[in-house]
Amino acid sequence: MTARLETMPTDWQRALAIVAHPDDLEYGTAAAIAGWTDERREISYLLVTRGEAGIDTLDPARAAKVREREQRASAAVVGVTSVEFLDHQDGVIQYGPALRRDLAAAIRRHRPELVLTINHHDTWGGTFWNTPDHRAVGRAVLDAAADAGNRWIFPELGDRGLSPWNGVRWVAVSGSPHPTHAVEVSGGIERAVLSLLEHRTYIEALTDEDPESYCRAFIDQVTSTAADRFGGRPAVSFELFPR
Ligand SMILES: [Zn+2]
Repeated sequence: MTARLETMPTDWQRALAIVAHPDDLEYGTAAAIAGWTDERREISYLLVTRGEAGIDTLDPARAAKVREREQRASAAVVGVTSVEFLDHQDGVIQYGPALRRDLAAAIRRHRPELVLTINHHDTWGGTFWNTPDHRAVGRAVLDAAADAGNRWIFPELGDRGLSPWNGVRWVAVSGSPHPTHAVEVSGGIERAVLSLLEHRTYIEALTDEDPESYCRAFIDQVTSTAADRFGGRPAVSFELFPR
């Protein structure tokens, strides 16, 4: 359980991060992304929903607009300007061919070597039950990395001019209870905190804590947990699936 985490691969240039909701990447992954954009790697975000069901006090139509705006701002903090949204419905994303096709299409358009997503397992750390959206999207991302390279699985994508892309070399899952790899994030922690803080409307509805203290405590906890298995260096961990 406490084996040392391997270092994340560095021989790649393009990554596509695919998650269910605005804020999913900001609870840790963005610290790694900040470092990668510093190295002039190209990172794009794909959000499967606009997180419209995420704020109890805001109706979904208004929440969708607010959360899209906050997501674009949080991406910009870590150097990401390519942010796209699919229109699946927040809370009831369905795992299946339609979702796999949408994700395969995005992978073909972006042609990433590394695909990022968040925890698709049943629980967070074996303790807290994960959401159905995270499980559905994470599993579909792992499947779509292969689907994107097979011209016969979704032939209609080829008809739309999206050629197969079989160049995904890894899918990296952050927040996994079974991490295998990590990346050192000392230089990205401050921006990760500010990036999470951009989801201010969401966070203010979520907690009575001071938003900045809440964000800082969360990012510190994530990066120090990974540090315990990465030579004491602040890090973000991933479960890496090579292809
Ligand atoms: Zn989420």
